[in-house]
Amino acid sequence: MNEILKFVIGKRDRKIPRANIFLIVAIATCISNSVIGQTTHVNPWAPTELGPLPPIASLTSGVWLKGDLHLHSNHSKDASNNSVSKIIAFSKSVGMGYIGITDHDNHVMGDVAHNTWADPALKSDDSLLVLYSAEWTTTRGHGNAFSARPYDHQRLYDVRDQRDVVVGAVKKELGIHLSANHPSGKDHFGYSYDMVESIEVWNSAIWPKNANAIMIWDDMLSSGRKLTGRGGSDSHHGTPDANEKPSKNTYQAKANYVGTPTTWVFAKERTAQAVIDALTNGRVSVSANPYAPRVEFYADLDLDGKMDMMMGDNAKATGKPVKFRVKLVGTMAAGATYTVKVVKNGDDFGTFQATGNLFEAEFTDTPAAIGRTYYRVTVQGPQTAYPEVPQSMALSGDMIGLSNPIYFNFDPNF
Ligand SMILES: [Zn+2]
Ligand SMILES: [Zn+2]
Repeated sequence: MNEILKFVIGKRDRKIPRANIFLIVAIATCISNSVIGQTTHVNPWAPTELGPLPPIASLTSGVWLKGDLHLHSNHSKDASNNSVSKIIAFSKSVGMGYIGITDHDNHVMGDVAHNTWADPALKSDDSLLVLYSAEWTTTRGHGNAFSARPYDHQRLYDVRDQRDVVVGAVKKELGIHLSANHPSGKDHFGYSYDMVESIEVWNSAIWPKNANAIMIWDDMLSSGRKLTGRGGSDSHHGTPDANEKPSKNTYQAKANYVGTPTTWVFAKERTAQAVIDALTNGRVSVSANPYAPRVEFYADLDLDGKMDMMMGDNAKATGKPVKFRVKLVGTMAAGATYTVKVVKNGDDFGTFQATGNLFEAEFTDTPAAIGRTYYRVTVQGPQTAYPEVPQSMALSGDMIGLSNPIYFNFDPNF
C-alpha cells in the first residue's frame, strides 16, 4: 500500500466523514496511478528470448505415408455397409499407408477394446498400419484418440463429463494422442485445446464447411499453441456388397469415403508409433484425396540454397531473412495454374502462382527475432480425379491441399 493511502485510512476513524473518505481515496488513487503509471507493470508472460530449441529432425530420413484419421465401421451404430475388412481392403487399393478406424465409443459404452479392436480384420500388415483409435463421443463434443498400442479407452470414456483438469490428467496417464474433431460444426470440441495435440481442420470431402475450423486453428496457433492441423473423412457408409442391402445413406459412399481428405505424415520409419509422432510433431499436410498432390513446405534459414526445416518444425529466429519453398508432389494437371496462399500469424501474407509442370513457389520474409511467428500455406487449383469416390472432387471445390505451419520461437515448454 502506498504512503498516501496509508495516511488516509489511518485518519479515517478520527475526524473525516465517511463520504469524504471515498473522495479522498479516489483522488489518492488517481495520484498514485499517475505517479506509478502503467510503465512499471511487467507482464511475466511477455515473450522473451528463448533458450536453445531442440535440433530439427532430418528432412530426408523418413517416409511419407498417407492415410485417413477419421473412419467409422459397422461397429458404429450409425454406419452402414462398412465392415472393418471392407475399409482395410479399400484403403490398400488406393495406396494408403495407415488408417485410424474411429468408431463412436458411446455406442459400446466405452468398450472399444471388445468391439472395433477385437474385430479379427483389424490388424496392421506390410502395406497398411492400423492405429488403435476411437471417437470419444461426449455431451461436450467429439475428439479422436490415437495410439500405436492398445490402451484403456474405457477410462477416457468414463471421465468424459468431468472437469477438463481431471480429463486432462487421465488422458496424460493413458499416453494417447488426442485430437479435436469437427471443431466448428455439430458436436464441436467443447474442451480446452490444451488437452489436444491436433485439430481436424478438414472434415469430410466438403471443403467449404471448414472455414471456421481454420479460424479456430489460427487462433490457437496465434496464442502460442503448437497444434497440428489434420484431416478426416468421417465417412460412415460403404458401397453394399452383393449380399448386403443398401441403406438410406449408401449414396454418401460415392461422395465421401476413405481419403476425402487424405492426411500425409512424414514418419521417421514405417511404424504406427512413428505415424503418431509425426502427427504430434506437425510434419503433416492434408490433400483433397489420395491421388491429389501432396503439399510440402520448407524453409532455408541461412539462404545457402539448402532447406533446413519443414512444416511442423520450430526454430529460433535470427532476425535475418528466411527463404520459404512450397512444393506440390504428385499428379497435377499439366499446364494448370495453382494458387498458393500464405498465412502469417493468422493473417493473409501473400498469394503466389505456380504451374503444374514444375510446381514450386518461393518467398522470403524475416520472422521477428523476439516473439512467435508462424507461416502456413494452402494450395488451390484443379482437382485430381478420384474415380473410386467420383462425387468428392466437386465437394472439395478448388482446395487441393494445405500444410502445417513452420514455426519460429514457439516455446516447447508452453
Ligand atoms: Zn464426430
Ligand atoms: Zn465421426
